[in-house]
Amino acid sequence: MSRYGYFWGCYVQGRLPHIEKSTRAVMQHLGVDCADTEGLTCCPEKTTVANMGHDEWLVTAARNLAIAEDAGVDFLTPCPGCFGTLKGAAAEVASSAAAQGEVNRELRRVGRSYRGTARTAHILEFLHRDFGLSAIGERVTAPLTGMRIAIHYGCHLLKPSADLAVDDPAHPTKFDELVETLGATSVAYEGKLSCCGGLLSRVDDQDAAQAMARRKLRDVAAERADAICLACPACFMQYDTTQFLLQRKGEQIHVPVLYYTELLGLALGLAPDDLGLSSHRIDIQPFLIRWQGQREAIERVRERWDYDLLRKCAECGACAFDCPVTRVDVAFDPNGIIRQLSDGQVDQVLREGEFWRCVECCTCREACFQRYSMMDIFRVAKQLAAERGVTPAGTAEGMAAFRKSGRLVEGSASQRKRLGLPEPAAAGGSELTQLFEWRPERRRP
Ligand code: SF4
Ligand code: SF4
Ligand code: SF4
Repeated sequence: MSRYGYFWGCYVQGRLPHIEKSTRAVMQHLGVDCADTEGLTCCPEKTTVANMGHDEWLVTAARNLAIAEDAGVDFLTPCPGCFGTLKGAAAEVASSAAAQGEVNRELRRVGRSYRGTARTAHILEFLHRDFGLSAIGERVTAPLTGMRIAIHYGCHLLKPSADLAVDDPAHPTKFDELVETLGATSVAYEGKLSCCGGLLSRVDDQDAAQAMARRKLRDVAAERADAICLACPACFMQYDTTQFLLQRKGEQIHVPVLYYTELLGLALGLAPDDLGLSSHRIDIQPFLIRWQGQREAIERVRERWDYDLLRKCAECGACAFDCPVTRVDVAFDPNGIIRQLSDGQVDQVLREGEFWRCVECCTCREACFQRYSMMDIFRVAKQLAAERGVTPAGTAEGMAAFRKSGRLVEGSASQRKRLGLPEPAAAGGSELTQLFEWRPERRRP
């Protein structure tokens, strides 16, 4: 792996140092060789400096890249704006010998030159492409299982896609994969790819900026997401600071905001204080409390089920397609029950009692590419429900008869007599009572 140099950009160091703190903590934890580099300036940010003049923009960016070359590093940045500028400027300089010559003519005046070898990656791009999802997954010690995360890609991570080439701008998946590797669920929501509108604050249109923030935050809240997760300091300010302003105006809105390295740090087992989470304007505690409750719920699932087996279901739906119960009633959703259990929703599953409708036909096991047995998972739910005395009336009747006599039903003496059959031989129910004393046993599937 290469050596890297941090390119923080102005907003992270100036306004959002907690993003710097969590990024440093996570990179150190992952063993990434990344250090600070002296002499850097603003990337420069396009919407301000490029509007002062294209040459100022290009030469400033080339000077930063020349510093990376001198230090023998590639840049890693948490800011999509810096990423787009540095990558775009490098491509422009590389596009012709004339462009490189002009830039270097300027740089020579301050004793620098740019050869075009330094690269820049956004943190997400680095983590997904270079570090790798499986390497991250292996290091997760505090999974975010059951937490619902609304991902905000932000415009400048994806567009212009021809220059950035990070992901499909219309159907991106990489950020979702990075979040789901931590065990969380990426929630689909209206307007997921829409712009945060942060730039409107800088052109003095606070009303429009607030309207855009409000719209997305409401879309996220409507899907009961536990937090919005993003990878852009400008977007962070828009959803954290602007949301705070909306709250001060009395608006009932509360969506915790997390930069990706903060979420990743939590999943890696780092403490909230080590990630600077108390610096957010929007209180992060509701997220942490929900997560703690969720982890306890998963522990309760582990007490009765093989949790790793539960998580093995790939939700491909092949089993549900063949399930005879689903075929007559699409409301029966065996995958959905497995998902609820994986998310720790034991009480809800028992309350709804849908698992009782599994007729234990084994069809799903045959249909599943990994011979996953819904039936065995549901049997544990049935045992747990029976222990709590919440069984369908017909099942309760059969259980009571079995406890009493060791048989599910008593034969009709008159019917047997009519058929010329002898009295049934005595049942051994009393011995069963002696054996079990009808105390519920706890078995794993
Ligand atoms: S402010 Fe809008 S345009 Fe800028 S990075 Fe955020 S989402 Fe993209
Ligand atoms: S065992 Fe249950 S879940 Fe599986 S196919 Fe049969 S009825 Fe459906
Ligand atoms: S076929 Fe197997 S992996 Fe696919 S949804 Fe059913 S149980 Fe899960």
